[in-house]
Amino acid sequence: MKKHNFSSGPSILPQEVFEKASQAIINFNDTGLSVLEISHRSDEFVAVIEEARSLALELLDLENKGYKALFLSGGASMEFLRVPYNLLKKNSKAAYLDTGKWAAGAIKEAKAFGDTVIVASSKDDNYNYMPKDYTIPTDASYFHCTSNNTIYGTQMQEFPETIVPIVCDMSSDIFSRQLDFSKFDLIYAGAQKNIGPAGTTLVVIKEELLDNNHSDRIIPGILDYSAHISKESMYNTPPVFAIYTTLLTLQWLKANGGITVMEERNNTKAALLYNEIDRNSLFIGTAKIEDRSKMNVTFVLKNKLHKDSFDSMWKAANINGLNGHRTVGGYRAAIYNAMPIESVQILVNVMQEFEKTITSK
Ligand SMILES: *Cc1c(COP(=O)(O)O)cnc(C)c1O
Repeated sequence: MKKHNFSSGPSILPQEVFEKASQAIINFNDTGLSVLEISHRSDEFVAVIEEARSLALELLDLENKGYKALFLSGGASMEFLRVPYNLLKKNSKAAYLDTGKWAAGAIKEAKAFGDTVIVASSKDDNYNYMPKDYTIPTDASYFHCTSNNTIYGTQMQEFPETIVPIVCDMSSDIFSRQLDFSKFDLIYAGAQKNIGPAGTTLVVIKEELLDNNHSDRIIPGILDYSAHISKESMYNTPPVFAIYTTLLTLQWLKANGGITVMEERNNTKAALLYNEIDRNSLFIGTAKIEDRSKMNVTFVLKNKLHKDSFDSMWKAANINGLNGHRTVGGYRAAIYNAMPIESVQILVNVMQEFEKTITSK
């Protein structure tokens, strides 16, 4: 029986995407070939990557605004490194907002390339809030932030107004809410959270950024954004299957009303779950209320002794992947775009049942 998968990554995708992707493994678009064996230079696959690139820009409302979309490999972690390599000039500095393990990972890589300023950090409180009052040095090469902190369940509700180019890791909330994406100069997102399987990363770059802010280093081709742009995202063999599956998800997104409709659904799902966490006498949410994520909902039991009985209840309800990240513990429910509200309702029902069982003892 298909599980209710609350795992934060790799994670749920729409069921019809799983079905179409598995069909394409047997016979891709009636070519008599598997998508796993077709040439990445074939007309059929070039059409896939081109549609995925243009659909990504269309959904973000960035068409004809000077942006390019790429599907690269190496995970979001590779962009932690590619960003400073391409954008941090030798005698300049980069500004970072430290909001969690992934942000800290990006900072660590930037430090290998030059001066790195941490404009604010929420590490002092185990990253359970978003820092708000901070100043971005106007001479920085770029400002880097993480829009949604997958592990801690916090999400940026506002982005700074600054003349400095903004680079944003949107791995776990891209396409989940309406933003003015043209405020960003570079957006990247590992596919395996909200758009596809592991193996590809969507990178959206404003070309002007590379013209004006390119670092003064010699950049190896595979790490050079300009090289990937000039080769139309085919610098080397791209992760064909991951890109094809991502295209299926983007098509599903568009057919289902795009980001606007997704955002409404995500708001409803998040409200349902947070209301239960706040109502239920046995649980407590871990993120500061105003900074709560609508993608990753983190909570703990007030009484740790109840852990075994809660765990066996949700597992019996066919729920998967509710354990918190190994570095923080507790619980974390990822309610990405593909998560149906019915599954969230099942989790809420389990929490209510659990409360009845415990309080009647
Ligand atoms: C998962 C995640 C990453 C790391 O992604 P990889 O593809 O494993 O490198 C980076 N940033 C955020 C926000 C994430 O959620």
